[in-house]
Amino acid sequence: MIAAADINITKVEHSKLKDINLENIPFGKYFTDHMMEVDFEGGEWKNAEIKPYQPLLLAPSLAALHYGQAIFEGIKAYKNTEGEPYIFRPHDNFRRFNISAERMQMPQVPEELFMEGMRQLVELDKNWIPSQEDHSLYIRPFMFSSDEMIGVRPSENYKFMIILSPTGPYYSAPMRIYVEEKYVRAVPGGVGYAKAAGNYGAAMYATAEAKKIGYDQVLWTDAFEHKYVQECGTMNVFFIIGNTAITPDLGSGTILAGVTRESAITLLKEMGFNVEEKSLSIDDIIDAHKAGILYEVFGTGTAATISLIRELRYKDYVMSFDVDKWQTAPELKRQLNAIRYGQMADNHGWMYKV
Ligand SMILES: *Cc1c(COP(=O)(O)O)cnc(C)c1O
Repeated sequence: MIAAADINITKVEHSKLKDINLENIPFGKYFTDHMMEVDFEGGEWKNAEIKPYQPLLLAPSLAALHYGQAIFEGIKAYKNTEGEPYIFRPHDNFRRFNISAERMQMPQVPEELFMEGMRQLVELDKNWIPSQEDHSLYIRPFMFSSDEMIGVRPSENYKFMIILSPTGPYYSAPMRIYVEEKYVRAVPGGVGYAKAAGNYGAAMYATAEAKKIGYDQVLWTDAFEHKYVQECGTMNVFFIIGNTAITPDLGSGTILAGVTRESAITLLKEMGFNVEEKSLSIDDIIDAHKAGILYEVFGTGTAATISLIRELRYKDYVMSFDVDKWQTAPELKRQLNAIRYGQMADNHGWMYKV
């Protein structure tokens, strides 16, 4: 196994940072000076390197391009009020990465390689962490099969990499959401609980259809009855109904177990909400809306943190919300951000010092 000391580091001669304005920088477009690259060959991880960010030289027969053994993670690093770098709950992403790897018949990445590689990379590029409000450094670990052979079988070779991208606020405006009844994201027994690359490609058609009629995203429903809600685009979803916060449970393997979702559950409980993880039907949501007790609907995810949903449409039934009057989602976002930027006590040990 590769120990931390075995990560070979080659630094850039000149940082690109001086040419880039980190304020309001768009999501995922700019990358830092360095990246991490590790190979899995002959049953073991080798050649662990942190080196200048650069293109890869890949064979056209690269297995991942044909059969999609590819997974990823999304994590964020922040600067606290003293300017010290911290990463939000990276161990949770590490565990989820290996859950995704197992489902896709890919090798497990050792904890030390994932965590120590990420830590050293962020340490090296820490000047790229923006200090403006709602800004952060997005960390993208990923792995893909790298056999140069087009046969449908698990690859013998893989690459594990980490790249870093400074980012401003992700979704700023409250969203209009279309409840999807034709296309599906995930089925029981499928790969919905894995952060597998193909899940995102498979979702794009439905999202594009919803965009054509003026919606920002879809709310996915279950594959059998199109009745139970799952996730909103690539975010977990919460409904505040009366004094209860409800989010779909993870039981059937169709929901990605979001780290932000888990953090929101913890904070909502502390705020005095009764939190329920259970299956929730669109009929229950409409009933709550008609009864005037559907107060707030929002998505959670690393990229956007908390995204307010100002309209939810199911068939011809439109639920509109006056998001300016909302208390809960904005407070949740405020608390999460305050913890991340070191302005509020981190009572749960969520912040990992770089
Ligand atoms: C990444 C992701 C989420 C959010 O997970 P976080 O750990 O909170 O970022 C939710 N749903 C899907 C489908 C995702 O890919």
